[in-house]
Amino acid sequence: MRPALTRHLPEIVPFAHGLLQRALQPGDIAIDATAGNGHDTLLLAQRVGDGGHVYAFDVQEQAISATRERLEAHGVAYRVSVIHAGHETVQQHVQQPVQAAVFNLGYLPRSDKQVTTQADSTIAALEGIWQLLQPHGLIVLVVYHGHAGGKQERSALEDYVCSLDPATVRVVRYALANVPNDPPYVLALEKLKQVSAC
Ligand code: SAH
Repeated sequence: MRPALTRHLPEIVPFAHGLLQRALQPGDIAIDATAGNGHDTLLLAQRVGDGGHVYAFDVQEQAISATRERLEAHGVAYRVSVIHAGHETVQQHVQQPVQAAVFNLGYLPRSDKQVTTQADSTIAALEGIWQLLQPHGLIVLVVYHGHAGGKQERSALEDYVCSLDPATVRVVRYALANVPNDPPYVLALEKLKQVSAC
């Protein structure tokens, strides 16, 4: 059954998209850490415009070609570096300050369910992106945790983000609280701007 459409409280993915749209301006640099079918990569590429750039990572050839095709169909492929490598290698590929990044955890829908994101590489990627992130930069994770291995990744990720210093980062969860069967939810991290004491 489709959930009723709400006016004020968006579904999980539209909520994640709204955060990214607000965090990005034309000319910005953004990262899609899990390109998958390229939906988020396209959103980022459209938002950063001609003067911006997107780096999109995936470990599966199927995802890389689906993402390239989607970008080409929308005429924005030139704004994106589609990188066939794990997001944990982000610092080898990106050397610019980044305004926003997105992760969709789990497996690629309609493909090999054995290939999923993993706690260690997800956290390594978060740390790498954190080094590149501008003050007020945003990292949005859509946490799919219903599959085998999903609980373990979620639990390691929650331990990690909950250990971060609240003076340097704000961590927020947006989740449907009254829905069964492990619905996905959003974890969002904003890098706080340090104000120097005078
Ligand atoms: N569960 C989401 C989609 C997740 S797609 C949904 O249902 O919409 C997750 C993508 O992450 C997959 O395409 C997978 O190939 C990719 N992936 C897995 N490990 C990765 C890694 N280390 N670096 C980059 N991408 C990775």
